[in-house]
Order: sequence, then structure tokens, then C-alpha cells
Amino acid sequence: MPIRIAPPMTTSPSRPRILTGDTPTGTLHLGHWVGSVKRRVELQSSHECYFLIANIHAFTTRARQADDIRRDSIEIVRDYLAMGIDPAQSAIFLQSEVPAIAELTFLFAMLLPFNRVMRNPTLSEEIKVKGLGEQYSFGFPLYAVGQTADILAFRAAGVPVGEDQVPHLEMTREVARRFNQIFCGVSEHAEDADHEKLGGVFPVPKADVGAVGRLIGIDGVNKMSKSLGNAIFIADSAKEIHKKVGKIFTGRQSPSEPGNIENALFQYVDAFITDPVRVAELKDRYSRGDNIGDGHVKVEVAEAINTLLEPMRERRKQYEGNDGAIIEILRDGTSRANALAEETLAKAKTAAKLGYFPRRLALG
Ligand code: ATP
Ligand code: MG
Repeated sequence: MPIRIAPPMTTSPSRPRILTGDTPTGTLHLGHWVGSVKRRVELQSSHECYFLIANIHAFTTRARQADDIRRDSIEIVRDYLAMGIDPAQSAIFLQSEVPAIAELTFLFAMLLPFNRVMRNPTLSEEIKVKGLGEQYSFGFPLYAVGQTADILAFRAAGVPVGEDQVPHLEMTREVARRFNQIFCGVSEHAEDADHEKLGGVFPVPKADVGAVGRLIGIDGVNKMSKSLGNAIFIADSAKEIHKKVGKIFTGRQSPSEPGNIENALFQYVDAFITDPVRVAELKDRYSRGDNIGDGHVKVEVAEAINTLLEPMRERRKQYEGNDGAIIEILRDGTSRANALAEETLAKAKTAAKLGYFPRRLALG
């Protein structure tokens, strides 16, 4: 399939800019769709979009699996294309190939108290549910600082993310304010919206949480996550979807037992059955125990998910087995990302009195 390359993006956008991304610790699942990617697809024609593959951050938990990180980086791009992200409109790029991000990470690490980073609730939660114990690397908490650089390198106004990322966004907002106050003379009393107008290098970005901010996994306990074995993947077959939805645990015994419509299964009903009348009907009958079994609801949920995924499977086929096309998309996106991130880094270095010589960066 021919790849359409977008014209170079201007660095002073007339369209608001968004940045977000995914870590190649696996491939993308339904949580990504409802929490973030659906929103990206909605925004891509009206916004200047940058979507990052956080391949360096994947080393926080997968340092011994470099091959897997590389494979999943490519697969995630396939998932993006399947879900409707258009590389002609949106820059899809590799974190590892944008050096300005690493440089800003170091600088921003100086602006955040150590204890502030370690108190980040998303980090504590990840340490717990991913079983990292006391053995996690120094780079693990550093990834949260790195994420502030991912976002601010693009001077993004909005960040479409799931709920778990809101604490990281809060830290990003703190870094932006602090940098602007320390190095650009922006007053401590300035409104967030005025920071750039008052000479700050960075806008204070906002989280844009998707329709379902935290989709529960099929274990019915944790957030659906690539790393936790509780995910329904975008690339799963129709048969796998039925099998996985069949596993969602509710604890209900019989079709006549009044069911709890707050349970994991009904979170899927809400997220994926698109007809509100049918959703209301299912909830009514289930909560009264009106002869409706979990099995029945699960079949309807699986069918609704398959209706959503079928066009994605079709689009995905065009890119199957064609890693070359994916690499070209990444090369184009990464080159656009570097143009902007280098510009931001130069502004930040000038503000921090580190601007000695101009430099130019090119991909081979
Ligand atoms: P990992 O298990 O490695 O942490 P993950 O499945 O949590 O992977 P990330 O790459 O960490 O996926 O997250 C990418 C984006 O998808 C983030 O914006 C995150 O908030 C969102 N996201 C991930 N899982 C869910 C979910 N279950 N519900 C809603 N949004 C989600
Ligand atoms: Mg995660």
C-alpha cells in the first residue's frame, strides 16, 4: 500500500497540538481504544497530532527483552493504522530516536523533588500490580519524569490518555509551571492558560481522558493492561473475543438471581453495546434476575466488540507482513517529531542559559 507523506508541519500551529503514546510492553487492547485511541482518531483532522512509541520506557520492565520491544513497537503501529490513525495526518514516532526528549528528561529531573516523584500514585500502583517489589530499576520512577519530557518536548496543549495517566499529567503541569517561573520570569500567580503569553516556553497541558477512563480487565479486578494477562487485544480473532469475554468473572449463579449491574461484565456492556435502549433493557432484566444468564449477556458483548473490531481487522490486513512500510511511517513521523522537539529544546536551553551553539539533527 502506498504511504502518503504529509506536508511538513508548521512549528507555530494554527491547530491545537496533542501528544500521547503507548509503551511497547505488548500490543494494544480495548482499554487503549476506549481510554485514548478513539479520542485520537476523533481529533486527528482538527489537531496537530504526535503519537509516540515509548520504546525506551519499555526497558523499565523489559530490559532483557529487546527483541520483543522492537517487535511490539512495529505491532503497535499496525494497531494504530488498524484503529484509524492516519500517518498522513498524525506523526507516529519512536521515542528512542528523538534525543531532545532524553535531554529534557535530565533537565526536568532537576525541577522535581525526588519524594514528589516517588509519591506518584500511578508508580506505586504499577510497582504493586506488576509485582516489581524492591527490584525495580532506577529508570522505573525516572520514566514518569521522562513522560513530562515526552509531552513538553512537543509543547502539547492536550494529552488524550486513560485515567491512570492523570497523576503523570499533573507532574507534567508542575514541571511546565516551574520551568516557566524559574527560567522565563513567569509569575507564580500566573494562570495556567497565560504561561506562554507571558513568555513561558511551555504551555501547561491538560489531560483529555477518553469515554471510559479505566476499562477493567477480564480478570474483573485490575485495569486492563498489556502486562497483566487480562487484556482483549485489538488483533484478537473473533473466536478469541468470544472466549475471552466468556471468562469475565461475575460470581453470579443463575439467570434468575438478581445481578449487580456495576460488575465487570456490565462495564463492558456500557463500553461496547452501542444501542442505549438495549443497554437499558439488559440492565433492567439482569438486575431483576429476569431469566437472563451471564452467558447470554457475554455473547451480546462479544458480538458488539467484534462489530467494533471487524473493520480494524480488515484495515490491519493491508499492513500484515510489511514491516518496511511501517518503518517508513516511523521514519517520516520521527523526522517530523525531531523538527519540533529540537525547536523546543533550543528554546528551553536558551531560557536555561545553555544555548551555546545551534545544532542540526538528521535521520539517516
Ligand atoms: P502496561 O501494562 O505496560 O502499563 P498498559 O496496558 O497500561 O501497558 P500503556 O502503554 O501504559 O498501556 O498506556 C497507554 C495509554 O492507554 C495510556 O493513555 C493509558 O492511560 C491508556 N490505557 C491503558 N490501559 C487502559 C485501560 N484499561 N482503560 C483506559 N485507558 C487505558
Ligand atoms: Mg500502563
